Amino acid sequence: MKICFFSGRRPTQKSLNRINRFSRRQTLNSDTRAPHIKSIKINLISMPWALFNRPSVQLGTLKAYIEDKSHDFLVDTSHPYLQVASILGMDLYHWVSRNPWVSEALYSPLVFPEQAAYAESLVLKYVSKADPKIKRSFHYKYLVEKIEKHLLEWVESCNWSQYSLVGFSVCFHQLFASFAAAAAIKKKHPHTAIVFGGSSCAADAGQSLLNTFHFIDYVIQGEGERGLLALCAYISGLQNISLPENIISKKSGSKNDLQLQGQVDDSQLSSLADLPVPNYEGYFSDQKKWFPDKPFIPILPVEFSRGCWWNKCAFCNLNLQWCGYRCKKAAQMMAEVKILSTRHKCLDFTFVDNMLPSKEALPFFKMTGKDASDYTFFAEIRSAKSKPPAADIFSIYRQGGLSAIQVGIEAFSNSLLQKMQKGVSVIENMATMREAQENNLKLEGNLILQFPGSSQAEVTETLENLDFVFPYPPLATASFFLGHDSPVHKNPQKYGIKTIVNHPNNYKLFPKSILSQIKLLIKDYRGDLAHQRIIWKPVLQKVNKWQQYHVQRKQGALQKPLLYYRDGADFLLIRQELPDGKILHHRLQGASRQIYLSCTRITTDTELFAKFPQISQENILSFLADLKKKKILFSDKNKYLALAVHFRD
Ligand code: SF4
Repeated sequence: MKICFFSGRRPTQKSLNRINRFSRRQTLNSDTRAPHIKSIKINLISMPWALFNRPSVQLGTLKAYIEDKSHDFLVDTSHPYLQVASILGMDLYHWVSRNPWVSEALYSPLVFPEQAAYAESLVLKYVSKADPKIKRSFHYKYLVEKIEKHLLEWVESCNWSQYSLVGFSVCFHQLFASFAAAAAIKKKHPHTAIVFGGSSCAADAGQSLLNTFHFIDYVIQGEGERGLLALCAYISGLQNISLPENIISKKSGSKNDLQLQGQVDDSQLSSLADLPVPNYEGYFSDQKKWFPDKPFIPILPVEFSRGCWWNKCAFCNLNLQWCGYRCKKAAQMMAEVKILSTRHKCLDFTFVDNMLPSKEALPFFKMTGKDASDYTFFAEIRSAKSKPPAADIFSIYRQGGLSAIQVGIEAFSNSLLQKMQKGVSVIENMATMREAQENNLKLEGNLILQFPGSSQAEVTETLENLDFVFPYPPLATASFFLGHDSPVHKNPQKYGIKTIVNHPNNYKLFPKSILSQIKLLIKDYRGDLAHQRIIWKPVLQKVNKWQQYHVQRKQGALQKPLLYYRDGADFLLIRQELPDGKILHHRLQGASRQIYLSCTRITTDTELFAKFPQISQENILSFLADLKKKKILFSDKNKYLALAVHFRD
């Protein structure tokens, strides 16, 4: 069909209201079709390198929402990443999808052939550090050829003329694959309108992509539901509908950050309560098609909340596409999980939230804990002061099926955590790690190295505190990167940043002339980076040793915690494995046992003095100091945390 582009009328909030009235009318009269619009079909696409063992939550949610609101708009979803995974093999695909720069560099030559040699040099840097199996199977030019062949065949095999709109959900490392696919579709079918949306189009990045690439007709800023519905209505010819403000087109002119932010605010759903259950049918039929002989059980993404109620971390730009914080009620989330599990015969779920909503998560996991199904869940959470304490929460979460968590630990220095605006302290981070281990929750977390402006004293504090977390499963290290529109990016002087520049890896992927026109979400900077690299080196080495110790120990099939206690009613036996492999045993009797057990939750000296009035304050403090010296207890000012976890041999 002929595509009607932007009308040129000044778009207003009223247009959104009209669309909503239209949507409600469509929902109420679901069997009738508005006489003045044509039924249209759209195709929503998620390109590599989305994780192949899970459907795209963006596509599933948008399809369900659009089809729920209007029977005039039919939504197909395409998951070419499944086919690419079947061509490359699961192991290689998985490795690539975990390496953002490699992911982008494999599609870069399809868009900018002149960058091929630079992109290859970038990839080889990462491949040289991969395990031998990946190194053996990785041949850059051959892979690029395979990927290109797949792309051309995939574009050729589809009748794009049936679609009035083709939408790309562009999130982490899907930028070049989406460029390549959009360009190929546009070439084959120039009249098909192409819209980009997703986190890679947040803030002014989306506007710059629209301005630079001829094959992008529209960009949706912020969340997609209302914007995409409005775009469908606009394209279908619904009378008196102009493009809402959060959709930018080539004709809508450039907008500044403030205008864009206001549009995101106006265009998002006021509540998540109306969101239908995601529709993953397209993914499952693609899975059957591309993995007929090697079926795997997918992990289903679910969404409990959008945004982050904290939203202050200095390095974070994860919330650019949302305004404010919204979450579903526990009952809605529970119903969604049950429907998806029954529909797809799956039991494993991953929450895509930036942070699990603690208030609703507790009743939710109480419900899943009582449910007959053996669900498992992964979620991101935050270490923080909480009521009830982490100890109680984690045990409920675990019983409800939460099996793995990603926690924003980031640092083991209090002043550094303050610079990062994390709103947590070292002892709270340690308490989270302790509770995760005691409750058999797999904890993944990062330690951010080279945060701009960090001091030698903070590095020293980190090195000292690493001794106390040695018994827990090790964290990964992540060098600080400058996120576009993060608080550090907005206030660089505060962190000693002199100049903000493009990330050097992007010079390998983009021609200079293009790079100068676009805004990308990862930046680099000039400031104290060289100094940071030097001072953080010992931390990197210490974390590497921590990781190696735990890997070797796993190979030895020793599953006991490195530091644990067994309770003998009036005494405790503590077993401690040291970094050199030596085993120490400690016995705490009577009041010593009681004091140690009191500290299994963060406790202050005042609380201990009140609880043990029969023991002098001096004796309590000296006992605690001795435990700290032995690294079986941590203290921070007047707060104490027993590090050993309860474990039965
Ligand atoms: S890092 Fe996590 S907790 Fe911090 S602002 Fe970002 S989403 Fe929120």
